[in-house]
Amino acid sequence: MAKLYFRYGAMNSGKSTGLLQTAFNYEERGQRVLLAKPGVDTKGDSRIVSRLGMSRDVDFLIPPTADIRELFARQAAGDDPDALVQHVDAPPVACLLVDEAQFLTPEQVDDLFRIAILDNVPVLAYGIRSDFRTHAFPGSRRLLEIAHSLEELKTICRCGRKAVFNTRRIGTRIIFDGDQVAIDGDEVWYESLCGACYLEASNGRLGS
Ligand SMILES: [Zn+2]
Repeated sequence: MAKLYFRYGAMNSGKSTGLLQTAFNYEERGQRVLLAKPGVDTKGDSRIVSRLGMSRDVDFLIPPTADIRELFARQAAGDDPDALVQHVDAPPVACLLVDEAQFLTPEQVDDLFRIAILDNVPVLAYGIRSDFRTHAFPGSRRLLEIAHSLEELKTICRCGRKAVFNTRRIGTRIIFDGDQVAIDGDEVWYESLCGACYLEASNGRLGS
């Protein structure tokens, strides 16, 4: 019986790097994997981009209300004319890897669970646990609820402790306003902080 895995961490904890490494490990053994991510993330478009410099196209993007199990079945069979990467003679899929899983809806996370159980394909979802106001993303909350396996990917705060929170910044200022989903641009940037540094930067404020 296959399982649903959630590998989560703060921003910059190496999630995309880990995903690409896992895909490589499967393929090195001659196994086929499918890579997907929500279409909402405009950073890198249809590519999964690691901060270490590696990048790779996903096999399919997941629209906001799409049934992932259906998308997965089409891709696995290799019969999707819109596929970003075409598979001529589609061998079985050994693993589905999902990047930016925090942007999935709870229903789409349920689809991942069904793929693992009903289609017997392991699903590895990578995502950020909480937003810049310290609240769980809906997709991450659902993954924390139903994933068979939870694994924390760690990154280091500027003080050397483990970072758990993501702050949204403009310049040195910490921002609590705005949409949950905002992709880094010229002005907005994010810093992963430990609890102590978060409270110091936010003047004792936790979330909104
Ligand atoms: Zn710190």
